[in-house]
Amino acid sequence: MAYVFDAPPQASLAVQDNDMRFPVRRIFCVGRNYEAHAREMGNDPDREPPFFFTKPADAACDTPCTIPYPSLTNDLHYEIELVVAIGKGGANIAPKDVANHIWGASVGIDLTRRDLQADAKKTRRPWDWSKAFDLSAPIAPIKQIADVPSLTNARIWLAVNGEIRQDADIADLIWSVSEHIATLSEGVTLAPGDLVMTGTPAGVGAVVSGDVITGGVDGIAELEVTIGPRA
Ligand code: MN
Repeated sequence: MAYVFDAPPQASLAVQDNDMRFPVRRIFCVGRNYEAHAREMGNDPDREPPFFFTKPADAACDTPCTIPYPSLTNDLHYEIELVVAIGKGGANIAPKDVANHIWGASVGIDLTRRDLQADAKKTRRPWDWSKAFDLSAPIAPIKQIADVPSLTNARIWLAVNGEIRQDADIADLIWSVSEHIATLSEGVTLAPGDLVMTGTPAGVGAVVSGDVITGGVDGIAELEVTIGPRA
């Protein structure tokens, strides 16, 4: 195969206890998947079907890292999320079979330009500019599923400069990992390398240059992200 210029490098993430890297294909994100967060964003947390948006594969970046404060925003928000890494593809996967498609899990931040998202909601425009910007998905090294104690119960937390801002349990997901990945696979054929960011609990908020964000899902992974000066 000859390309008209060099093909871009494969986006990838580090893996725990392994020198090999996880090749990232796509990043799917679940909206409003914790009741208290749906409420804090002014939405009815009733069990409406899960919905999805995406980030480009190369928005994923290894942690620890420093991310420049992004352009176009004055309201950069963190959202700590359990991340599920797909190892086996498929369409119309039944909830009971989802576990067979999971390669591993980690924790990541769905960085959000909240002011642009508010504008997009108001003007009924797409969310991409608020969610899918460069380096908008810092993710800790992925843990292989055999070593993951649970995808149904675990503390999920985030701190800014050491002060806890988000503190919940993945048991509080409105749509469990099995349920929302099954639904996702009705809309797209999942493939190895896909990542699913499973939604954030309550307590989202803004960060500024110089802030150090730490976070984790107990038993799975922890991360640290520093917000740098404006790019
Ligand atoms: Mn999110």
